[in-house]
Amino acid sequence: MFGLIATFADHGIAEDTLGTVVEVKRNYCKVRLSMNSADGIQKGGVCQVVTADTPSETKSATVTAVRDGFAVVRLDDGTASVGDRVVVVSEPGLERDNPQVASLVSAAGKKVDVKLIAGRMFENIELLRVDDSDDQNIKIRVRDASARRPLTISLTAVDYIKCEAKLIFECAPGAKTANSRFSRKQALLAKQHAEYEAKLRQWELLLDKTGAKKWPDLTTTEHEAAITEHRDFIKVLKNDYSDLELYETDHFLFLSNIERRHLNPYLMQLDAMHKLMMHMYGIPEDIRVWKGKALIVAFVERQQFVDFERRHIKQPAPAGAYGVCHAGTDGQVIVACFRGDRPAEFGQMLVHETSHGFMHRYKTAKDVPSWINEGLADHLGLTIVPASQSVPKRQQAALERIRRTNSLGGIVGSELRNIRADQYGLSSLLVRFLIQNGDERFASLIDHLKAGLNLNESLQIAYNTSQEQMIRAFGVSIGMPNLQP
Ligand SMILES: [Zn+2]
Repeated sequence: MFGLIATFADHGIAEDTLGTVVEVKRNYCKVRLSMNSADGIQKGGVCQVVTADTPSETKSATVTAVRDGFAVVRLDDGTASVGDRVVVVSEPGLERDNPQVASLVSAAGKKVDVKLIAGRMFENIELLRVDDSDDQNIKIRVRDASARRPLTISLTAVDYIKCEAKLIFECAPGAKTANSRFSRKQALLAKQHAEYEAKLRQWELLLDKTGAKKWPDLTTTEHEAAITEHRDFIKVLKNDYSDLELYETDHFLFLSNIERRHLNPYLMQLDAMHKLMMHMYGIPEDIRVWKGKALIVAFVERQQFVDFERRHIKQPAPAGAYGVCHAGTDGQVIVACFRGDRPAEFGQMLVHETSHGFMHRYKTAKDVPSWINEGLADHLGLTIVPASQSVPKRQQAALERIRRTNSLGGIVGSELRNIRADQYGLSSLLVRFLIQNGDERFASLIDHLKAGLNLNESLQIAYNTSQEQMIRAFGVSIGMPNLQP
């Protein structure tokens, strides 16, 4: 690794700072990686945690996961605290001094050419000085004749620097692409985390009042155990249905006997739905909503699906069901379904059912009103699979009925556990209306419902409106200002 991040600790051992502890759970901690450390860390690697208060004491630890600018580290003994530094320690004598910084320092006062990783080139600018006070982020101060003020450039952004046609600085081999992508991504992720965590703290205060229970934060090991549980079930299923094949994505285990060449679009749609939900709720992408992964079992034939439900879920498939989402109280999610002969409707249904699973796993297991849950599922299904006809048809029928009756049929205040089949169209129209008034407001509505507040309270906080006002505004949006609840 490029020597820029080498430093010397008091005890004479060269150490590389990997990052800072941001979260602690028992003897595990989550570490936000510092820039440049991505290629210095890997699963199974050994590191040391340096306590902020007593830097002379270190605790040894093992890296158990690395992902998107963060690492999970397991302490061999004891625990860490938020703010502790995590370092990799190398043997004394292996210290990497930095000839590049020395060359830069000696070029101070001279004219240099600086090429940035992002592509910009500064030619023949004056190198004023090198600021290496932060060894994690060494900067140069330069003066460009065309600019009014001197410029500060971080070396992490620099591809190379030449002085008198001689190369005096070059970024680490291979770091060029990885580095720029990594640091941009890391910066974005860090920002997302800060916002997400601040909101989460606020939201958790609501739970003290309502008594709703947040899904527990799971360790990597617990997530892995949940995936193993699914895999054991998959083994049983493969035994029963020999043509089932397993496909795996970042968030899904997809078990199916649909031909491999036909499957890709569906996997992509599920990933797109996952991404959309994460974005809508403002969840940083490295946070896991599923317990492990969601399991999708998709058969070609309806009879296989019915048989699966009866034998393996131990309950009859609901009459006329295209798919079912089994959302367990333990947090496991299994979606079972069949393709039949309407590919777009199958895609829509997959997104619909999986959206129920996501809703179940989002923040708490608390149910949201059925019309919101079904309306969102259909809305997402249509958004991700616009070729689907079933949702627009249901919406069209709903609009015709509203125009006939001038009423929403009491759906908004309804406490129905499951809305009727003829209420889906209206539900997705209402949810679409709410989402069109702002993703953030809709996310806030769901957050408050999930915290255990009722619909009126949640609408009031998220939209600053009552049920009645919302219905009136919806009526206006479809040209019916006197629409009745
Ligand atoms: Zn549904």
